[in-house]
Amino acid sequence: MAALATTSSLSDYHRLSISTYRDQLRKSGKASSIDVAYSYRGKSYRYPIQLTTTAPHYGGLRHWFICKSCSNRASVLYRKGIYVCRRCMRLGYQSQLQTPIDRQFDRLSAIRERLEWQRGVAHGIGERPKGMHRTTYDKLMSEHEQLTAKVWQASLDKLNCTR
Ligand SMILES: [Zn+2]
Repeated sequence: MAALATTSSLSDYHRLSISTYRDQLRKSGKASSIDVAYSYRGKSYRYPIQLTTTAPHYGGLRHWFICKSCSNRASVLYRKGIYVCRRCMRLGYQSQLQTPIDRQFDRLSAIRERLEWQRGVAHGIGERPKGMHRTTYDKLMSEHEQLTAKVWQASLDKLNCTR
């Protein structure tokens, strides 16, 4: 089946609406995908966005995008690297809201949990859990050490008492 190509001006848009393509789609009839090409944050993207249709009561065909991330139907896609539906956009948005320090804390907690250590860096380091490989333990230990240093440093920076 045929694919529609978009213009390069697409790179200026962060929102992609199926209505933009209504005329093109009506003419081509059976396009199964729309090819997009753009660069975003220094990375080049070129891939097809799959389309699907429904038949509304008033006749004709209604076109939809298929979200690459969740495979659901969407009439509008948002650019987050690749174009995704609003729901996927929101999901990603929450992790973007986290500051790097929050993420480091989260990672620290995850490591401590795997090591079966008490929550919170202030509790210091514990033992190697029973049944955990030495190499795994060493790897987690060194990551824990680096993260702890970063987290402490960030806390000190926040308090403005480093220099
Ligand atoms: Zn989605």
